[in-house]
Amino acid sequence: LVSRKWRVRPTVLDLGDGVRIGEGSLTLAAGPCSIESEPQMELMMQHLIDNDVRIMRGGVFKPRSSPYSFRGLGMDGLKLFHQMARTRGIKIITEVMQVSQVEEMHDYVDVFQVGARNTQNFNLLDALGGVDKPVMIKRGISGTLEELLSSAEYVFSGGNEKLILCERGIRTFETASRNTLDLNAVPILKEKTHLPVIVDPSHGIGIREYVPTMALAGVMAGADGIIYEAHEKPEEAASDGAQTLNFEESGRLIRNLRKVYALR
Ligand code: PEP
Ligand code: MN
Repeated sequence: LVSRKWRVRPTVLDLGDGVRIGEGSLTLAAGPCSIESEPQMELMMQHLIDNDVRIMRGGVFKPRSSPYSFRGLGMDGLKLFHQMARTRGIKIITEVMQVSQVEEMHDYVDVFQVGARNTQNFNLLDALGGVDKPVMIKRGISGTLEELLSSAEYVFSGGNEKLILCERGIRTFETASRNTLDLNAVPILKEKTHLPVIVDPSHGIGIREYVPTMALAGVMAGADGIIYEAHEKPEEAASDGAQTLNFEESGRLIRNLRKVYALR
């Protein structure tokens, strides 16, 4: 069902209020790795508004490698995130980690994110097949493109056609970067599926200085959008600070992404 053989026309998702994801426009989503506080969200939202970006990312349930790391503000954080975003016309994308959270989170998100550690959580994918909200599925840490497409097929065949795929880097033998952003994925996925394809250069390379370069490369490779991490003070971020852009870097990147997209 997610194949171009089944549907030739590219899927375009409408998040409402004129926010669309898919062919014909460049989708930009930025925000902190983790939602931390009201002032943090306030500053981030103002940065997005100043740069005409309509989607904010930010985790409230965080899949951390260590159980001692910050694990997110949970539902209280999400409710505040939602309330602040709604009054400012911003759409939110945030990670859902388990089946029980799908219903709990439903009314407070615009896009559910399935993280790289949950790409093959088939119970979660089944549950998301039953909701009427868009779902962005990230590629598994060691997942093939075929596996990513199969995960999408779970959700689509369950009845939810509002899907986005995200290339976020894979684990390889290379240790010079956090992950290896696989830009090959972009043209290959664009040919195989009618679903929008988004690139996450932050997790893809994991090094702040190189995030803009890889973001621009992602757009040139044909991505429908970019999702990246930004924070008013990356060095103080509760998670993923080393791959997070400050507002100056983020603003410059947004301007350059739009220029590059226009050249395509
Ligand atoms: C994130 O988006 O902050 C995240 C945890 O991403 P991934 O699942 O790709 O590691
Ligand atoms: Mn992160």
